[in-house]
Amino acid sequence: MNGKNQPRRLRVGEGKISGYLSILLAILSLGGVICFHFPEYFTTPDFRAFYSVDILRTILFSCLVFSFGFALFSFLLSRKIVLGGIGVLISILAIVLGGHSVEVKDFQQSIFSVSLDWLLLDILILTIIFIPLELFFPKRADQTKLHLEWKTDLVYFSISHLLVQLTAVAVQSPAELIFNDYGLDLVHSKISNIPFFLQLMMAILVADLFQYSIHRLFHTNRFLWRFHAVHHSIRTIDWLAGSRLHIVDILVTRAFSYIPLYVLGFSMQVFYAYVIIVALQAVAAHANTRINFGPLKYLIVTPQYHHWHHADDPEHYNKNFAIHLPLIDRVFGTYYLPNSKWPKTTGLGNEQFPKGFLKQFLFPFFNDPQTTKLKDPSER
Ligand SMILES: [Zn+2]
Ligand SMILES: [Zn+2]
Repeated sequence: MNGKNQPRRLRVGEGKISGYLSILLAILSLGGVICFHFPEYFTTPDFRAFYSVDILRTILFSCLVFSFGFALFSFLLSRKIVLGGIGVLISILAIVLGGHSVEVKDFQQSIFSVSLDWLLLDILILTIIFIPLELFFPKRADQTKLHLEWKTDLVYFSISHLLVQLTAVAVQSPAELIFNDYGLDLVHSKISNIPFFLQLMMAILVADLFQYSIHRLFHTNRFLWRFHAVHHSIRTIDWLAGSRLHIVDILVTRAFSYIPLYVLGFSMQVFYAYVIIVALQAVAAHANTRINFGPLKYLIVTPQYHHWHHADDPEHYNKNFAIHLPLIDRVFGTYYLPNSKWPKTTGLGNEQFPKGFLKQFLFPFFNDPQTTKLKDPSER
């Protein structure tokens, strides 16, 4: 929804987009340098096994080069030096601190660390995919990238990434504690003998079935809805806004979709592949792009499909709970995908939801958002 106060859409050719990209890449580079200096505090032990340090250095070097390049582009197009200037200054700071050639010393993992490495890499990957997609193939062409609440959504995105290791442990520990003595060895050995691709498809189906159930419960249970309403308070949906999820929502949903994967004994490669797929698809499902994926849209969840889940017209409430497979909604009678139509508006109708991360974090603990979305879909 674009109100009067909505900032004007950024246009290609004005030099602003390149200025912002220069700043973004400079910040990513500076963050990368910090990771190289203090891996014990800012990198994820589970992910380090998969890294090639040489490739990371090349990525960091490329980010610095592109940051300078975009700054120059911004100067030439806009004839203003503020945005590009900030990008150049931050890049210079990253270079002064060692740039891509910082030496990694031997270190001991700190007890408490945050996953800055995962945050930086994922922002880089998602930026490369989704910024051009939303810029050149937008569904709502008047919707700007920097919508009114983008800073709030960036805080959500950053926090959920920085704490990825912590939430994985929080979810994994109870699973191991509860199910370790259940003698599921036979099931584990049967599943681990299935070829990788088939195992991955099964993992997606199992996780989505559990995710579907808990998502539906988040809509129908009055207390749980308080937390999930935070996600539905997004009015301007794009890939970044899709990260707006209350921490309780994240923990419960991850527990429900990951625990069956641990319990049934899917291989760790399948598990990590699934984590990457769900991270990408959850972001993609919110993207503001008109690409409709042809017949594929009946097989996998696409932006059009998930935007209907966010429709603020009560007629379309409680549809499309799946995050991977529309088939699950078909089976349980919650499927809705009119041919080429999209919802007119999204959000919580007239619901006055608080703005800002901290207020939204506290809100569900003390308030009950009065909304008709609490109706059980089976009632209609
Ligand atoms: Zn929902
Ligand atoms: Zn959503």
